[in-house]
Amino acid sequence: SDADPHAYLTRLNPEQRAAVEHGVGVGAGAVPGPLLVIAGAGSGKTNVLAHRVAHLVARGADPGHILLLTFSRRAADEMARRVERIVRQVAAGRPQLAGAELAWAGTFHSIGARLLREYAPRIGLDPAFTIHDREDSADLMNLVRHELGLADTGKRFPRKQTCLAIYSAAVNTLAPLADVLAQRYPWCADFEDELKRLFRAYVEAKQAQHVLDYDDLLLYWSHMVEAPALAAEIGARFRHVLVDEYQDTNALQASIVRALKPDGAGVTVVGDDAQSIYAFRGATVRNILDFPGQFAPPARIVTLERNYRSTQPILAAANGVIARATEGYVKALWSERESAERPQLVSVRDEADQAAFVVEQVLARRETGIALKQQAVLFRAAHHSAAMEIELVRRNIPFVKFGGLKFLEAAHVKDVLAVLRWIENPRDRVAGFRMLQLMSGVGPKTAAQVLDQVASVQDVAMALREARVPAAAAPAWQDFLALVEALHGREVPWPAEFETIAGWYGAHLERLYEDAAVREGDLAQLAQIARTYPSRQRFLTELTLDPPDATSDEAGVPLRDEDYLILSTIHSAKGQEWKAVTLLNAVDGCIPSDLATGTPQEIEEERRLLYVAMTRAKDHLQIVVPQRFYVTQQTGYGDRHVYAGRTRFIPPGMAALFDSRAWPEAPAAPAASPPPPEVVEVLSKMKAMWN
Ligand code: ATP
Ligand code: MG
Repeated sequence: SDADPHAYLTRLNPEQRAAVEHGVGVGAGAVPGPLLVIAGAGSGKTNVLAHRVAHLVARGADPGHILLLTFSRRAADEMARRVERIVRQVAAGRPQLAGAELAWAGTFHSIGARLLREYAPRIGLDPAFTIHDREDSADLMNLVRHELGLADTGKRFPRKQTCLAIYSAAVNTLAPLADVLAQRYPWCADFEDELKRLFRAYVEAKQAQHVLDYDDLLLYWSHMVEAPALAAEIGARFRHVLVDEYQDTNALQASIVRALKPDGAGVTVVGDDAQSIYAFRGATVRNILDFPGQFAPPARIVTLERNYRSTQPILAAANGVIARATEGYVKALWSERESAERPQLVSVRDEADQAAFVVEQVLARRETGIALKQQAVLFRAAHHSAAMEIELVRRNIPFVKFGGLKFLEAAHVKDVLAVLRWIENPRDRVAGFRMLQLMSGVGPKTAAQVLDQVASVQDVAMALREARVPAAAAPAWQDFLALVEALHGREVPWPAEFETIAGWYGAHLERLYEDAAVREGDLAQLAQIARTYPSRQRFLTELTLDPPDATSDEAGVPLRDEDYLILSTIHSAKGQEWKAVTLLNAVDGCIPSDLATGTPQEIEEERRLLYVAMTRAKDHLQIVVPQRFYVTQQTGYGDRHVYAGRTRFIPPGMAALFDSRAWPEAPAAPAASPPPPEVVEVLSKMKAMWN
C-alpha cells in the first residue's frame, strides 16, 4: 500500500529485488561487494539501478557519495527523477531524506569534466581549460598536420577526420597504435611513424593551448585516479559507483571504474551483451564479460529473464533476430504481455511512400489516444530520415530528432561559441582562428600571426592593439578591439556578456550568411539557453558535452510542453521505450549498413542494432522495407536509386513472426458497374441449380 515505505521493493520480482538489496546494510558504513546485472532488453536493468540507488539512500547512504554513470544526459536526468520519486515515498516521516539530491549523475565525459575542473591545479592543468568537440578536434589535428608538413607530402596521408578517429581509437581502447592500424585502418598502416609524430604534436598543441578534447576528459581522469596521491581521495569521495549500459563502455572507461574501486567494493554495473552497439567507437563487450573475474572474491552476478516492456509477439520477433547471431547470447526473454498483434513488415515503393505511410500511421495512432511523444521513428543513419522530416514539416507535425546534426553544429552558432571560448581561453587556437576570420579582411595568415602574438604574452588586449592587420580589415578590427576591451579581463556578469557578443556578431552575420534572419532566430534561442546557466564556463562545458537536439522548430531547441514525434537514430534510442516504434529502411545496405559490411564482427554489430531497435517497442512495431531507395554515391556517378532487398537479418524463415503487408494496398479492381438484368437472371439461375 502507499503507506508502506518499502512498497518500492515489493514491486520488484525476486531477482530484481536480490540485485537491489545486494550487500546493502543499514547505516552508511557497510559497502557492498561488486555486482553485475546482465540481462536482456526491457528486463528492468535500468529500473533496478534506480531502485538500488534509492534503496541505498533510504538505508542511510549520502546521495552526494553516489556516482551514477549513464550513457546520455537524458538518461541521467531520467534516472535522477526516478530515484527522487522513490526516495520521496520513503521519506514520508523521515525528513532527513527529503531534498536528497543525486549530485553526481551523468555521462563519463561530463563527470570527468567536473572532476577535472576541480582537481586541475593538482595535475598541472589550467582550470580554465576549454573543451573541443569533434569538429574542433579535427580542425586542430588539421592545423598540426599542416604545421608538420604531413598534409602536402604528395602521399595519400589520411584526412583530418581519419587521423582523429585513429587517435581516438588508440586512446579509448588503450591499444598500441600499430594494433589499431592493423586491425581497423590497414590502409593507413604505412604511416605509423608519421602518425606518431602527428599525435605527439597534437598532444603538445592541446597542452600549450589549454584545451581538452573529449578523449582527454577520460584520459586525464584515468591518469588522475591512477596517481596514488589522488586515487585514494577521489575513490573515497564516491562510496558507490553504478554504471548503466556497461556493454558499451570502452577499455579506458573500465579502467577508470577499476582505478576508482580496485577491490570492486560499492561497484554495480548493468548491461546486455546482446545490445553491444558501440564497438565501432572502441567499446568492448569484454568489459561486461570480464567484470566478475576482476575481483576476489568475484562479483555477484544476477540475471533477469522477464521482459516487462514488450508484448509477446514483439519479443518473439526480436528474439528471432538475435537467435540467428553467430555469437551465442544465452538469455531467454519472456513476457506476460499477451497481444494478438504481430509486428508488421510493410513493403513500400520508395522513401517518399515510406514517409507518407509512416505519417498516416502516426496520425491514426494518435487518433486512438497514443500521443506523438509515445511514438518513435528509428533509423540506422541520421540522414535516413530526410524524406521523413520533409513530410513532417509539410504536414505541420512537430518532431524532435535525436542523434542527427545538433543545433550547436550550425556554423553561426559555432561562431558565437568560438568567441566565448576564446574569451574564456585566449590560447584556444581553433576558437581564435574561427573568431578572427569572421572579420572581412582577416585571412588565415593574419589570424595565425595575431594568435602567435597572443600566445606569448600576458596582456591579450595589448597584443591585439599592437597587432598588424591589413588595411582592408581596419574598420572591423576597431570594432573588435572595442569588444575585447569591453569584455576581456573584466567582470562582466554572465548573460550580459553573451548579449554583448551577440550584438557584435550581428553585424557580421548579415554579411556572412544569406539567411541571416533565420539564423538570428537561432541566436535568440541560444541567448535563452545561455540565461539558464550560472556562468560562461558552465554554459560552454555543458553545451559542448551534450548539445541540444535538432527539432522541427526552426529555432532548434526542444519544444518542451508540446506533443512531438520522436525521430532517432537507433544508437540514440538505446535504453528508451515507446508504445509504438517504426523502423525505416529495413533493407540491406541500410541495416546492415553499406559502410559496415567489412568484417563478420561488423555485421554482427548491425544485427544487434536491429535487435536494439525492435526491443524499444512496447505495443506496436512496424518495420518498413522500401523496394528502392536513394543513395548518394561517393564514386563520382552521382546520386541514384538502388533496388534493395529486405534486411538479411529477417530472412524468409522468420515470416511467420510478422504480419506482412504492402502499402499502398494493391489497387482494388475498378468498381464494376451493375450488370444488366438479363445477366443477373442467368447468374441466379446458375446458382439456383444447386439449391
Ligand atoms: P534496456 O535493455 O532496453 O535498457 P532495461 O533492462 O534497462 O532495458 P528498463 O528500462 O529498466 O529495462 O525496464 C523496462 C520497462 O519495464 C520499464 O517500463 C519499467 O518500468 C518496466 N519494469 C521493470 N521492472 C518492472 C517490474 N518489476 N514490474 C513492472 N514493470 C517493470
Ligand atoms: Mg536500460
